[in-house]
Amino acid sequence: MSDLTDCVVTPRVATDGFDPLGVGVHRGSTIVFSDAAAYASRGERGDKGYSYGLYGTPTTRTLEEKLSRLEQAARTFLVPSGQAANAIAAMALVEAGQHLLLADTVYPPMRDFALNDLSRLGVSVEFFDPTDLDDLKSKIRPETRLVWCESPGSTTMEVMDLPAAAEIAHEGGALLGVDNTWATPLNLKPLTLGADLVTEALTKYVSGHSDVLLGSISVRDPELASPIKAAIGRMGIGASPDDASLVLRGLETLGVRLRHSEAVARRFCERLTKHPMIDKTLFPALQSFSGHALFQRDFLGASGVFTLTFTEELAPHVWPALDRLRLFAIGASWGGTRSLVAPMPVRGNRSVTQWSGADITLRISIGLEDEAELWEDMERFLAALEEFSTAANAAQ
Ligand SMILES: *Cc1c(COP(=O)(O)O)cnc(C)c1O
Repeated sequence: MSDLTDCVVTPRVATDGFDPLGVGVHRGSTIVFSDAAAYASRGERGDKGYSYGLYGTPTTRTLEEKLSRLEQAARTFLVPSGQAANAIAAMALVEAGQHLLLADTVYPPMRDFALNDLSRLGVSVEFFDPTDLDDLKSKIRPETRLVWCESPGSTTMEVMDLPAAAEIAHEGGALLGVDNTWATPLNLKPLTLGADLVTEALTKYVSGHSDVLLGSISVRDPELASPIKAAIGRMGIGASPDDASLVLRGLETLGVRLRHSEAVARRFCERLTKHPMIDKTLFPALQSFSGHALFQRDFLGASGVFTLTFTEELAPHVWPALDRLRLFAIGASWGGTRSLVAPMPVRGNRSVTQWSGADITLRISIGLEDEAELWEDMERFLAALEEFSTAANAAQ
């Protein structure tokens, strides 16, 4: 063959005997077939066969399979981000004329997607109080197709009674979906508590290193896999094998990372609940937290993400005090090795519940740094709060 042809045609080297622990990064759009008949019948290959890169590669399917085992799911689908998982799950299952109920505390982009896009497409969108199941029950209609939950709620950490919510949804002929990003499939298994589908922002703890965006949708019943798979294919949504490979690597250490972050977060929260500069510490693993009994019943552990609230008097000093931090980084997302803080407003993201506290909270994600140095940094922030409020009071 000429050099030009040799440049293009790739020889196949033997792969038997090469048995690494990790799965390779299989990049591919085109997948070739042994003959014309195999190509003609490619649609009959079923879920295990390969026909085109968009519909899966060995790398993406390995991660899907691992997640299915952890979630106890029939099938898992990867999508390019956690928010894509939420949006596509709803998009695939709800149609014009149907009704979607969302917990008032879901991840804000999910409420925006429902209010802007699903509403525009003829879906009726309504919110319920995640801590009041009578509210959920009273809002179920014959056309309710999906009840969307997140437990604990984004930022404000309300723990939901998921088995009871599933029962209410199913009695009304609706499906229950859960965004499980905070807990990860190691600490909560919504499909075993009655949920029909679960989404994860793998971007956070599962990948664990703040260097990749990826999401997953897992379903309990194989029947639910078809509409989701079809919607993903028709919308042309593929997950990159390179990204899947990074998440596969991160997933191997998820257990030890989570255990460490949870332990440090617990110790921080116990000290912070008693601290005079802090109004409330929102962390389901705290015994004093309102949702703690449900947390104890349903969760296998906590992650290292919690939220601090402040009195109205101290709230204006939170932003300037953040600039005293040296080790905690200021930034969105969480679940990586580096500890993060993010100031989060709440009120604008509530429709049927009242946020009574000051409209600035601080979401904290505990990473893997030295615990004593991290606490020293937290104390620097708390001391700055005190300093600024004392100065403001003196100036009055
Ligand atoms: C971050 C997050 C998402 C979105 O994940 P991305 O991969 O950043 O799109 C979805 N749900 C929850 C609860 C999150 O915290």
